[in-house]
Amino acid sequence: MTMRNTSIRTVVIIIVGIIVIGTVLMLIRDTATAPSLQDTKNTTPTQNKPVADVKPTYDTTSAKSIQVIVNKQHPLKQIDYAPISLTSVGNGQRMRTEAAEAFLNMQAAAATADAPIAATSGYRSYSYQKTVYDSYVSQYGMAETDTFSARPGYSEHQTGLTIDIQGGGCSLDNCFADTAQGKWLAANAYTYGFLLRYPADKTAITGYKHEAWHFRYIGTKLATDMHTQGITTLEEYFDVSGGASY
Ligand SMILES: [Zn+2]
Repeated sequence: MTMRNTSIRTVVIIIVGIIVIGTVLMLIRDTATAPSLQDTKNTTPTQNKPVADVKPTYDTTSAKSIQVIVNKQHPLKQIDYAPISLTSVGNGQRMRTEAAEAFLNMQAAAATADAPIAATSGYRSYSYQKTVYDSYVSQYGMAETDTFSARPGYSEHQTGLTIDIQGGGCSLDNCFADTAQGKWLAANAYTYGFLLRYPADKTAITGYKHEAWHFRYIGTKLATDMHTQGITTLEEYFDVSGGASY
């Protein structure tokens, strides 16, 4: 009896021992896992950094930067800036080589989509913009001219990154927005690095009336990011001032 009782006691001790060791092991494992869960919680926001944190990678102030912001509050730092390398985009128009190549690719794709487009106005030098602006001022007065034409040194066209596009029997007019070309560009231009620079609902922010034909090259990475986030102006994306007054 004693021997049997001792055996039963031994078995009970072993079982209890196994349960205790098992519980301790589970607790140790949980404790070991806990910090890594906490780490994940801590690193997740860093991995999905808000755009505000990555914006400094873009240079929005140098005249030669692809992402330079030019508006009535921000003239080109070098007021008579001229791009070093210009490439033809047809119709006697030129753009900075990188932007020209992107435009020509976009033009080929548009033609394939039965929405053939052509260049109307690309790079404009400081002196040419001065001639254009002065001519408008003599015709419409300065206040009216400032709503649709940039003063020299304040024009995106001077960067060589901007192109006025025509097609579907419409040029330099918002009838372009209703053409197959205008619609195709509105939907696809970002994939070639272009931005519809002066949207209809952002006049107060850009300082310009709606221009369905005026596209600005900003590079595919930024254009795609803006498209994904549904941000339609450079001023809003970079939190930079704009507006109608100089
Ligand atoms: Zn334009």
